[in-house]
Order: sequence, then C-alpha cells, then structure tokens
Amino acid sequence: MLKNDQLDRWDRENFFHPSTHLAQFARGEAPSRVIQTGKDCHITDRDGNELLDAFAGLYCVNVGYGRPEIAEAIAEQAKELAYYHAYVGHGTEASITLAKMVLDRAPDHMSKVYFGLSGSDANETNIKLVWYYNNILGRPEKKKIISRWRGYHGSGLMTGSLTGLHLFHKKFDLPLEQVIHTEAPYYYRRENTDMTEEDFVGHCVYELEQLIEREGADTIAAFIGEPALGTGGLVPPPAGYWEAIQKVLEKHDILLIADEVVTGFGRLGSMFGSDHYGIKPDLITIAKGLTSAYAPLSGSIVSDKMWKVLEQGTDENGPIGHGWTYSAHPIGAAAGIANLKLIDDLNLVQNAGTVGAHFKAALKAEVGDHAHVGEVRGEGLLCAVEFVKDPETRTFFDPSEGIGAKLAGALLSEGVIARAMPQGDILGFAPPFCLTEAQADEIATKLGRAVRSVL
Ligand code: PLP
Repeated sequence: MLKNDQLDRWDRENFFHPSTHLAQFARGEAPSRVIQTGKDCHITDRDGNELLDAFAGLYCVNVGYGRPEIAEAIAEQAKELAYYHAYVGHGTEASITLAKMVLDRAPDHMSKVYFGLSGSDANETNIKLVWYYNNILGRPEKKKIISRWRGYHGSGLMTGSLTGLHLFHKKFDLPLEQVIHTEAPYYYRRENTDMTEEDFVGHCVYELEQLIEREGADTIAAFIGEPALGTGGLVPPPAGYWEAIQKVLEKHDILLIADEVVTGFGRLGSMFGSDHYGIKPDLITIAKGLTSAYAPLSGSIVSDKMWKVLEQGTDENGPIGHGWTYSAHPIGAAAGIANLKLIDDLNLVQNAGTVGAHFKAALKAEVGDHAHVGEVRGEGLLCAVEFVKDPETRTFFDPSEGIGAKLAGALLSEGVIARAMPQGDILGFAPPFCLTEAQADEIATKLGRAVRSVL
C-alpha cells in the first residue's frame, strides 16, 4: 500500500479534481481526502476514520456501500463478456433485461430506454431527441429549451447551460443561446414574502407564460425540470406546481423532460418523482439510482408519443446518428439489474419514504427552532436545512462568511458527511435508503451539536 504522504503528493501533482479550487488544492490549503472502504451507510478513510455518509456519495449510492450482490453480478458479467456494443441492433442479455426492468418501473406511457453513462450525457441525448423530433415533424424553428434557475442538469456544454447555477456558467461562456431560464419553484426564497404558496405557484406560471410570449411558443421545444430541485437547494415544489406548469406546456405544445437523475428509483419514497407529483413527462432522465453508482450508467426513457415520431424519422432518414461506444455497457447493465432487484427485495423505496419522514421530523425537532434556521424541508430521503442570519426578516448571511461550508466542516468533525450546497447556506442530506431511524436520529443530534458550535 502506498504511504499517505506519497499518495498526497501524487494526488496534488497529477490529479485534476472536478469542482475543486485548483490553486488552493495545489498549494496544500485544501485537504486531499482518500476514501478506502464502504459498508451500508458508512465509509472509512485511509486514516481509519469511519464516517456516516448522509449524502450517499453524490446522492447516488442509494442501496448503500459494500453490497456483495452487485459486486458479484459485475464480476460475473466481466468474466463472461466485459463488453460488446449496442449499435445496429446488438445487445447483451444484461442490457436487454435491464431495459425491460426499467420500463416495468417507469410510468405506463413510457416506451423505450436509451442507455448512456452519466446524467449529463443522458440529458444531452434528451435534448438531441427533442430537436430530432421537431425536425421530423417539420418545425425546425421550435428548438429552445426552458430550464429553471437553480436547476441542475449536468456540466457539459448543453447541460451546463441548462443548469441554472452561476458557478457552472462562470468563465465558460455558458449558457448557450438555445437555453432560456425561468423562475425556480423555491417558495422559501420567493422575492415577495407576502405571497402564499398558492400565489407563488401563480407567479411561477405567470413568469413561464411571459417567457413563452416573449420568445414565441413556435421557437420553444421543451421544458426541463427536476421533480424536486436537487443541487440548487433540495427543494420540494409547492403544492400544485407541476399540475399548473404542465397545463401551460400542453397549451403551447412544449415537451416536458423530467430530470430524475436524483429522484429516479426511490429517493422521494416513490419509484419516480413523476409518480410522486403527477408529472407526465415526454422524456425521463435517469442515472445515479439506476446502478446506485456501482458502475456508471444512465438512461433516457422515451414516451410512446415521441417514440412513434423517432421511428418514423428513421424510415425517412436512415439510422439515427447518435450513440456512444459505451452505451448500454454490459457491466453497468449487470450492476443495474442487481441494484434494482436489491431495491425490491429490501423494500428500499418504502424505507426511503418512512425513514425519510422520521428523519425530517428529527431534524425539525433538533434544529427547527434554532435562531439561525430558516427552513427544514424535504421529501423522502432528500432533506435540507437552510440557515439564515435572521429568520424573522429572512435576511441571508453574506456568502463571504461561508456559513454552509463551516457547518458542513463542523458536522464532519462529528463523523457525519452532509453537503454544503453550492448556492446559499444550505446543508443537504440524501443518505442511502438503508438508513435506519436510529441513524437518522444520530445525524440530527450531531447536526444540533455542530450548529451550536458554529452559530
Ligand atoms: N441531473 C441531475 C438532476 C443531477 O443531480 C445531476 C448530477 O448531480 C446530473 C443531471 C448530472 O449527472 P452526472 O454528474 O452523472 O453527469
């Protein structure tokens, strides 16, 4: 095994880490953290520190760490057939079986699944499918995509543009011109605090209608949104939001892409966020929970309505010119099959709902009345605590104070990993679905101590 100081040096000399302050890292001002093992909800670093991972990696290790069933399925597949491509009608038993399992779980009106590798590439695929669809229908002008501020859809050229967080645009010349943003369904951060939740839904609808009118419905192809906002703050939508938004989209013949990279396969206590909120999407993006991150795999689930047009398009134009070498990679597919079976066998979707409700109540009981807690919110095992300078006047802390990062650091000292969300002083919690009520209580108690030590 390499010595820690050597690994640290190699890390700083060679490894370009994503989403990292490169200069601070190079100077040794930010830690190099090497994780060695994982079991259920815990990970252990190289120094032997055991941490309760209340963010499941990047909210993706949904069944928890160290599942032999998935590891064995991956090993078996690698021994039997590590790779074959999926072009021109090729497949493997694993990729075909997983496609069936995904469709069996998806909303009834969905028809096919295209497999990619990451949430970002699945969203890129979805945007291309939307454009292809409108070209086949003879409306080449209908191409713009509406996304929401604070939405997160990846960090590629198109997906980074769809993402509505400034950090992902800054100095990258994004967003691209085909992308336009509208209001986030983030009631706590509404501009006019006199608005009721119902008023606020009306306001979101008004903003969307104004945008459509300004741009012209005949130039707008699709609307993309996460059923509940993720990286932008872990925010369940206000009641009635999706119903009202879908009415507007239908009126203007605008397709709906539900980005279920975080919410797909159980995080909200329902198989899909679309089931949870009554969303009827034309495309669904899946990734993380599809394999619980045991192997990289994502997917674009296509509705019957769109599929018919895509099929017709290839009769007119020949094979669809889209595909990755690693589309439907058999090792990812084997991981996906074992993962979805485990979710069923252990009733993990239901557990995410019941333990999630317990967890939110425990967070509220522990910190809900604290002088700097503005809101405790969540749905299933997607929860957040938002910290403010003054909850009465809803005055936010100055970002330069870095309160969110300080709180995450204090909680880490207690042995719990939460995520300081990138915009606002928000601590995010999205633990594995095997979390127990006792572990939920432990996180809440440790959060209480961490908050009292910082604020
Ligand atoms: N969509 C959502 C809702 C996400 O949360 C993420 C990643 O966190 C992505 C897309 C991008 O996925 P990936 O990082 O696998 O490209």
